Amino acid sequence: MLDINKIRAEFPILNQKVNGKPLVYFDNGATSQKPQVVIDAIVDYYSRYNANIHRGVHTLSQLATDAYEEARLKIQRHFNAKHNYEIIFTSGTTEGINLVANGFAALLKKDDEIIVSALEHHSNIVPWQMLCEHTGAKLLVIPMNYDGELLMDEYEKLLSDKTKLVVCNHISNGLGTINPIEFIIEKAHKAGAAVLIDGAQACPHLKPDVQALNVDFYVTSAHKMCGPTGVGMLYGKEEWLRKLPPYKGGGEMIATVTFEKTTYADLPHKFEAGTPNICGGIAFGTAIDYMNEVGFDNIASYERELLEYGTKKLLELEGIEIYGTKDLNKKASVISFNFKGIHPYDVGTIIDKLGIAVRTGHHCAQPIMDFYKIPGTIRASFAFYNTKEEIDLMIEALKKAQMMLG
Ligand SMILES: *Cc1c(COP(=O)(O)O)cnc(C)c1O
Repeated sequence: MLDINKIRAEFPILNQKVNGKPLVYFDNGATSQKPQVVIDAIVDYYSRYNANIHRGVHTLSQLATDAYEEARLKIQRHFNAKHNYEIIFTSGTTEGINLVANGFAALLKKDDEIIVSALEHHSNIVPWQMLCEHTGAKLLVIPMNYDGELLMDEYEKLLSDKTKLVVCNHISNGLGTINPIEFIIEKAHKAGAAVLIDGAQACPHLKPDVQALNVDFYVTSAHKMCGPTGVGMLYGKEEWLRKLPPYKGGGEMIATVTFEKTTYADLPHKFEAGTPNICGGIAFGTAIDYMNEVGFDNIASYERELLEYGTKKLLELEGIEIYGTKDLNKKASVISFNFKGIHPYDVGTIIDKLGIAVRTGHHCAQPIMDFYKIPGTIRASFAFYNTKEEIDLMIEALKKAQMMLG
């Protein structure tokens, strides 16, 4: 069980008023808040041992290198990767996807096929469109139903020996749907295709095991799981990382450089050109430790309570439509909704004045909004530091907004 008061006290940002009202932060799907230990890790790095890594023989450089590589090990253990060099530090999910898409440019030919899902974030659509433009490969889309679930029988029909890559998110940021990635991965492998899973929205809620999933690539961002912005990780199976060419050229990623020929460094450095976000990587490790201390089983059961309570309370409101599955077992603590005849942006603006932070708009997932023929939704996404009392405050604020706009 979670000691919610203790947890909330660990997040300094939560204890404040916004627009004169206690802050209710329900925009965790966009970015999470940071516990004091993560803030401290950042301050500690810059106050005590800031230095460039993998380069200097001096003491601070050694300390920084050790801390950065220790963070890589924490990430490796967390995701259960087989080797530490299968963990590539990136600037976030978006960069991880672009890295793999760039690498596949060398491996694809005209009329090869890439399958994406209808539920993707733009960052898991656009890099593949760019790759298709570049190579002449085709992009196919797994369709969804009105409940926001991907149609697996349609997916199976799309697979063929032309399929080279299947990409899908683990949990949809637009609707909260938990996608059947085990099935998706197994069927893709049977067809001889590689799989990339976008875990940005899943990692705050659950602990993926990349070996059990048998996934080829898994990407995520630190900032949605209590870590800082500007850092993330790409997991890639060793065989795939060896096959892909480097993404960026520069320092740190080379073995030898002459003007005639450069040879690349071994994994993981082959993909880590330039001075990385050293501090961010270290604090990412701290965030992972923190979340594991809270415990992912505790997080899952508590967030499930919030999801059930929030769904029930919202459904009592007049004119509400909640998008996505009604089966809460297939959903993370994300609720996307609208009120009949009212623009989501107007609701968001009014409840912000009442201290409630939600996301409104297309959530970087415009194809989902087009499917429902709506301009966007109001999205309340809960984290383990939120409470039922905060949900009550949101409900009161929504009632006021309805009165003003209705
Ligand atoms: C947030 C998010 C992204 C993008 O993450 P960045 O940190 O902005 O790179 C991609 N996919 C999903 C599902 C997300 O929720």
